[in-house]
Amino acid sequence: MTRRRVVLSDPDASPPVYPWGSAPDRLATRAQLKKLGLRPGRQGVQALVMWYGRGGRPTIDGCRYAEMYDVTIARPRIAVSARRARSLQNALAARMTCPRCGVNRGYVPSRRLGVCNVCADLLGLAA
Ligand SMILES: [Zn+2]
Repeated sequence: MTRRRVVLSDPDASPPVYPWGSAPDRLATRAQLKKLGLRPGRQGVQALVMWYGRGGRPTIDGCRYAEMYDVTIARPRIAVSARRARSLQNALAARMTCPRCGVNRGYVPSRRLGVCNVCADLLGLAA
């Protein structure tokens, strides 16, 4: 039988710790900020919300926790323009293309081999 433990609120801790569901309304997790179209910006972690839960990471003393940020000083998310997205996609495609066979293998060839795994096998580089 496992003993049920309770996460206590510790407003004096740095950053302050709140049990799940009891953090002030002005605080939000990174995921909650994202839903609001915000990002943390330059502010540090303002508080932690902790709860007991099985599995998953990260944990402190067996507690799951999430970092919370202040909504009032959060910054708007930077929208990635279609042009910028395409450019990033092209850059990634170029990195995933093997310089020897010119095939986009869907992964970036290892820097040590310098070629895709198929070419490395053919050249007897693998091992
Ligand atoms: Zn290749």
